[in-house]
Amino acid sequence: MTHDVLIVGAGPVGTALALALRHRGLDVAMVDSRVRGASGGDPRVLALSLGSCHTLRRLGAWGALDSTPIRHIHVSQEAAFGRTLIDAAELGVDALGHVVRAGDLARALDGALGDDDGLTMIEGSRVASLEAGDDDVVVGLDGERTAVRARLVACAEGGIDESAPDVVSRDYHQHAVITLATPERPHENRAFERFTAGGPLALLPFGSRYAVVHTASPDTAEHLAALDDVEYMAEVERRLAGRVRLTRVEPRLRFPLMLRYRRVPVGARTVWLGNAAQTLHPVAGQGFNLALRDVWALATAISENGARDVGEAPVLARYARARRMDRRATIGVTDALARLFSNDIGPLAALRGAGLLTLDACPPLRGLLARTMMFGARAWS
Ligand SMILES: Cc1cc2nc3c(=O)[nH]c(=O)nc-3n(C[C@H](O)[C@H](O)[C@H](O)COP(=O)(O)OP(=O)(O)OC[C@H]3O[C@@H](n4cnc5c(N)ncnc54)[C@H](O)[C@@H]3O)c2cc1C
Repeated sequence: MTHDVLIVGAGPVGTALALALRHRGLDVAMVDSRVRGASGGDPRVLALSLGSCHTLRRLGAWGALDSTPIRHIHVSQEAAFGRTLIDAAELGVDALGHVVRAGDLARALDGALGDDDGLTMIEGSRVASLEAGDDDVVVGLDGERTAVRARLVACAEGGIDESAPDVVSRDYHQHAVITLATPERPHENRAFERFTAGGPLALLPFGSRYAVVHTASPDTAEHLAALDDVEYMAEVERRLAGRVRLTRVEPRLRFPLMLRYRRVPVGARTVWLGNAAQTLHPVAGQGFNLALRDVWALATAISENGARDVGEAPVLARYARARRMDRRATIGVTDALARLFSNDIGPLAALRGAGLLTLDACPPLRGLLARTMMFGARAWS
């Protein structure tokens, strides 16, 4: 039997696609090497753009999700001039975005899926091979003698093999150190993005606490992770020039950072989504947001094709065309931010300062930046 769509990976991106394809009269299967619900343990904290919140609401996953609105973002750089404040009220929106725990997001998506009768769930099986033919893809599963077949395979397995053809890779030689910290005074839904020579430091309002994403060289990250709590809090306060005082901090976790993306995220009867299409630096908090825009566009391209073969080349070409600009812009801007704002080269610091001052003095430009963060490249049209 041949499924219409096989989704590889039941992480947040794969599950979002399963939800987006629901009730479209398709035979959909999803396979994950882990047991269902394993993504619920992800301790990372994600900033969701306003566009993502709308999409999650349409997918039925927003109501059950604990989230904290971001109403102001203070952007500045360490040891140099220039700062700007992005304000939700000034843009006429209630929030610029929302902060959620990645594990809660995965659980909310899985909860929305429930026991969807139309979905075949294959748990605890790793996809080991894909062989695209004229009419379908033969999907080999580890330890299974019978292969699964699908007209379209959507790969959302959360990573990209560097040796795959057409993959671009850049090691930033940076790690993200993440933790939760309790502020002395209520955060009033204000986020901080502070650019330092070692890499950006972000504080996101999360419940009554801050989620801290601290980017640094691997050695510094190791040092930061090893500091005792009091020393670490003093370090964050110092980096933010005393704008925030902390009273408590949780143990720190580390993630190596890199840029890796497929130049073309579609192939023969195959499409790559989420971290399997592009793994981004978290500086702009765009990885999952971009993935969700891709998921929605793919589901739309598939349903516009009607009852015909969903893996046909024109369907994938239409999807890739629709997503090209937003994808390129998000990858490019994220990469530029990660590199431009992670050094202490004098002229660049001055340029950054001038950029921040220009943004501060020019509300329309600030509005465009904020709308791009909220909705992706469609904010430009
Ligand atoms: C420190 C940090 C901060 C971030 N902050 C933000 C943010 O603020 N905003 C934002 O939008 N994004 C952010 N991101 C990015 C975001 O976390 C990712 O975009 C998102 O988690 C990717 O989800 P995914 O479903 O693609 O992959 P995953 O969550 O990794 O899921 C992949 C799934 O595939 C399964 N799998 C893997 N291989 C196979 C196989 N061969 N066969 C079957 N199953 C398989 C796995 O078991 C897993 O369940 C951040 C990332 C980091 C590292």
